[in-house]
Amino acid sequence: MDTQLQDGFGRTIDYLRLSVTDRCDFRCVYCMAEDMTFLPRQQVLALEELERVARIFVGLGVKKIRLTGGEPLVRKGIVGLCERIAGLSGLRELVMTSNGSQLGKLARPLAKAGLKRLNISLDSLDPERFRAITRTGDLRQVLAGIDAAREAGFERIKLNCVVMKGRNADEVPALVDYAVANGLDISFIEEMPLGAVGRDRGESFCSSDEVRALIAERHALIDSAEQSGGPARYVRLLEHPQTRVGFISPHSHNFCATCNRLRLTVEGRLLLCLGHENSIDLRGLLRRHPTSDTPIIDAIHGALQRKPLRHEFSAAGEVQVLRFMNASGG
Ligand code: SAM
Ligand code: SF4
Repeated sequence: MDTQLQDGFGRTIDYLRLSVTDRCDFRCVYCMAEDMTFLPRQQVLALEELERVARIFVGLGVKKIRLTGGEPLVRKGIVGLCERIAGLSGLRELVMTSNGSQLGKLARPLAKAGLKRLNISLDSLDPERFRAITRTGDLRQVLAGIDAAREAGFERIKLNCVVMKGRNADEVPALVDYAVANGLDISFIEEMPLGAVGRDRGESFCSSDEVRALIAERHALIDSAEQSGGPARYVRLLEHPQTRVGFISPHSHNFCATCNRLRLTVEGRLLLCLGHENSIDLRGLLRRHPTSDTPIIDAIHGALQRKPLRHEFSAAGEVQVLRFMNASGG
């Protein structure tokens, strides 16, 4: 059997983003509504099901898995799950995106479990603003989590910052300075219209070109052709070449042509594109076929022929996909 996953446009798929929970201890303004209803437990994939899915995808040629959510570190048993997925033969890299709140206690066990790299979200260095953006977050706890991650010895740590005018755009240079001072990479993300979050996203939209101009006021930038297998474009700072600064620009620079990824929601829906609703239900198949992977593998191959060519996000901020980011496995 041909195990390479290829979509209908000839793109090889070797990267899976696996959402391990829709729950979170934060309620970031761009990601969730203030009063979220989370999924009932039986609709969420069990740890064994998550592990099984990971094993099936690695068997189909997936080389990199990112655990995300929701906040992956609020899922009970996450360290053991990491250990089991990291041990799958054929997987090159297990990585995670986290809000950092639990890293003070979990950074070391996660590194020991085989997690290679971490992306940590950090939108502000001002405690009050941080609280306003995350609604519940404590900046001190997250900064302590970042310190714990640095000490735990991950191969690379990257900060993620969603830039919004009127909320944190003026902090872009300070966030770059923080990344440089701590030996971290940093990516700036354009806000995507996922889910109705009760505010007009268009008003605060800040393009990657504007973010880049803010950084260029302070630093000489060198364009870099580096790719991390993701949608970011990178620059390096002339005086601090060890720091990579990335721009993730779903609106202003479409990155779909090189898309190599699939997402699995925590309900077991395989999303073919973040910007479209089409998906297939793997949970039903996993539960109907507990001992044979063949029906699941066939369904994945079939679904890939329906992976869309590109997303259709617009910068006007209107909601085009009803799913919230925490349900998609951002
Ligand atoms: N809870 C973890 C965290 O915040 O890093 C992982 C899940 S979160 C959904 C993954 C990433 O998606 C975070 O970096 C977050 O900032 C980003 N994100 C969430 N909603 C977004 C949106 N509407 N547009 C752009 N990025 C978004
Ligand atoms: Fe939670 Fe991450 Fe969404 Fe913020 S972006 S609410 S931390 S899932």
